[in-house]
Amino acid sequence: MSELSFADLGLDPAVLEAVAAVGYEKPSPIQAQTIPALLAGKHLLGVAQTGTGKTAAFALPLLSRIDASVMEPQILVLAPTRELAIQVAEAFTTYASKFRNFHVLPIYGGQDFFPQIKGLRRGAQVIVGTPGRMLDHLRKGTLKLDSLKALVLDEADEMLRMGFIDDVEAILAKTPDNCQRALFSATMPPQIKKVAQTYLRDATEVKIESETRTVERISQFVLPVYAERKLDALTRILEVEPLDAAIIFVRTKAETTLLAEKLSARGHAVAPLNGDLNQRQREQTVEDLKRGKKDIIVATDVAARGLDVPRITHVINYDVPYDTEATFTGLAAPAVPVVKARRFCWSRLVSVVGCARLSAPPIRRWNPMNCPRPTL
Ligand code: AMP
Repeated sequence: MSELSFADLGLDPAVLEAVAAVGYEKPSPIQAQTIPALLAGKHLLGVAQTGTGKTAAFALPLLSRIDASVMEPQILVLAPTRELAIQVAEAFTTYASKFRNFHVLPIYGGQDFFPQIKGLRRGAQVIVGTPGRMLDHLRKGTLKLDSLKALVLDEADEMLRMGFIDDVEAILAKTPDNCQRALFSATMPPQIKKVAQTYLRDATEVKIESETRTVERISQFVLPVYAERKLDALTRILEVEPLDAAIIFVRTKAETTLLAEKLSARGHAVAPLNGDLNQRQREQTVEDLKRGKKDIIVATDVAARGLDVPRITHVINYDVPYDTEATFTGLAAPAVPVVKARRFCWSRLVSVVGCARLSAPPIRRWNPMNCPRPTL
């Protein structure tokens, strides 16, 4: 955290009041660097990932620059997933809580067009959405960008990974020339660099070495087990670990339901989270985890991406992840992936690997990171 206070940064008094109400004491490093540049109207290129406070880093200054009495889209945020879009929309609602007559509208695929069109007709100063649906509304003419002051691309590399980059560029091309632009990305692959060079000329660059990536704050261990013993191993981990809430990643939608049923039968408050659930159910599931009605979510990686649930103490990979964030330890075959935590609040990270090829005993403890392990 920096020595600056939020009051030093020149934010709108109503925004400052909202920040005080949320209880943030000091700007995080990315906020200290980003807020002055965005307040000055500059384009911004931020290399940072979720967990660094980047949502407030763009939301606070951009909200300070809009005319809150004008009920037209002035800030547009593109996010890779519905869940992240909703989370960002919620953050904007919090930071704009002292504005009168202020609306944020999340729009994303999978939801009916009608309520979105109704919301757009009613008017909103901030629109947060996934690229495909945003583009649909632009093409239909239901979303107009005449009053747009700023566009934010959040988790740009994720949007690229998920195949949205053409939609993102199509949206960028439709934004007014004088519109301020900010792009945040955890990594800078060439396609993202190209977008930045084309649409964010002379941008201020901010790079935050995220705390999220530091292994010191996360204990990790890997348990190579025979496939048929995976459930036993998982059940034991859930018994012995000091767990508040956990996310268990599996590879398929079907597996989320199957595993959730098995854990539920073993007495855990658990729910699946996958793309087959309707949006309301998905939001409810995350809400239940946040509020402690559920302690475990069994999710596919994409469905759970970018979730911000401070209760989560454990992340368990029940299958070897496909995720590109997986790193391979370089140990002798079979290679064991250790997925990096995506949030600094995740204190422990567990991988359960089912591998029938191993000539090891059914459950073998192994700790490549030389960190605490459970007693199995
Ligand atoms: P983000 O990287 O935007 O997903 O934010 C990660 C978490 O940090 C969220 O739960 C925010 O509410 C919280 N946060 C953001 N800025 C601050 C701050 N200056 N002080 C304390 N917490 C913050």
